[in-house]
Amino acid sequence: MTETSIAIPPPRIVARDAHGISRKDISPNALRVLYRLREGGFAAYLVGGAVRDLLIGGHPKDFDVATDATPEQVRGLFRNCRLIGRRFRLAHVVYGREIIEVATFRANEDDGSGSREMGDEGRIHRDNVYGTIEDDAVRRDFTANALYYAIEDFSVRDYVGGFEDVQARVLRLIGDPESRYREDPVRMLRAVRLSSKLGFSIDPSAAEPIPRLAVLLSGAAPARLFDECLKMFMAGHAETSFLSLEDNGLLPALFPETARALATNSSGALRTTLLQALRNTDVRVAEDKPVTPAFLFAALLWPAYCRELAVLQKQGVEAGVAQQRAADRVTLHQAERIALPRRFSQPMQEIWLLQPRFTQRLRKRVFRLLAHPRFRAAFDFLELRANGNAEIADDVAFWRQAQVDSPEHLAETLASRSSGPREEGEAAAARPRRRRRRRPDGSASGTGPGEAQP
Ligand code: ATP
Ligand code: MG
Repeated sequence: MTETSIAIPPPRIVARDAHGISRKDISPNALRVLYRLREGGFAAYLVGGAVRDLLIGGHPKDFDVATDATPEQVRGLFRNCRLIGRRFRLAHVVYGREIIEVATFRANEDDGSGSREMGDEGRIHRDNVYGTIEDDAVRRDFTANALYYAIEDFSVRDYVGGFEDVQARVLRLIGDPESRYREDPVRMLRAVRLSSKLGFSIDPSAAEPIPRLAVLLSGAAPARLFDECLKMFMAGHAETSFLSLEDNGLLPALFPETARALATNSSGALRTTLLQALRNTDVRVAEDKPVTPAFLFAALLWPAYCRELAVLQKQGVEAGVAQQRAADRVTLHQAERIALPRRFSQPMQEIWLLQPRFTQRLRKRVFRLLAHPRFRAAFDFLELRANGNAEIADDVAFWRQAQVDSPEHLAETLASRSSGPREEGEAAAARPRRRRRRRPDGSASGTGPGEAQP
């Protein structure tokens, strides 16, 4: 154990009758782990988000335990235990699908052993120093996340004023906000995410440095940013998270091209579409329906794609080529910030590239599109875009009907429509591409989903 150089006053101990945490709200497996550690002669606490969530009457999605036992000692107590992590060793106690993470108290102090390395800008590269419970408390990000529920007397131990902050529903950084963000810029995203998720405010002291330090996020690991994005946008609070990213000046750091496209889209239509997508995602999460990162990123990067496409088309690049090139460019640029795995970026691109095909009414193409494996997602995306756009709304109506029609009836409808205005426009747009044997997926008007038609 290391000695800390920070003088930390004794904790405020909130007795069991002075807080609302009840054992019946704690996962039985987490309780099992806490009791076993205690019987083994170790200190054992529930910690982090679980304590915070229980205090506000929420249902924690996972239960983390902190202890003074080393990972090896923890393994000695549990048969169903595996040790993980290179950067910092943790014990996972596994009960079927539930994993209780048990972490040894850990310090954030440089103990001179060289086991903690600071990079440029004061960023932490490695930290694997065990410490005391006090060390463990002060290395956490927000005071609300640094509360300890003790299994020995069911009290809550508070070393940093977190109990009051949870009552006041405020996120306050432990220590000097600017240095804490410099140590780990992802904490800025955590401020946005947790405040959106919990309905907490971000204390002015923690909010003030964010716009200034937002650029530091470009140094964060793209894989970690992808994880944070999933937590921000796939957990039922996507819209508020996005608005908070905007308000706190973090959008350009995370989605630079989206931010630029939104700033130059004077009609505001692109932003409307994006917010609608986030709102729909939140509704689906609330209804326990599946949501996919492919659709989500298709929406988040749609403004960037439209902007890129408009630029290419202005340069006279043929529609089909421009669409693929715009999709590739946006995907590639975004990958520098956020590591969107290929299994999501590919369907994301398909969702975009299928959009112009919804304007086509030639019989063969209609049936081919209906059979496309990405039809459903692309159609949902089309619906999203229809908001206030009569032409797209018309397409939505057609394709909604096409999905429920019998093939025979649909074929008849298409035959009787063949001389309609939509058909002429489509045929005109498709002709040159067919001659050049390109993918037949241009838009009807040839303008593509640019500024005027998001
Ligand atoms: P959620 O409910 O979304 O899981 P959480 O606060 O539990 O929120 P986790 O990512 O599960 O978030 O982290 C668990 C705990 O670890 C946090 O409560 C906090 O105490 C600590 N922690 C997590 N990330 C950081 C960080 N970047 N810097 C300092 N402490 C952190
Ligand atoms: Mg958690």
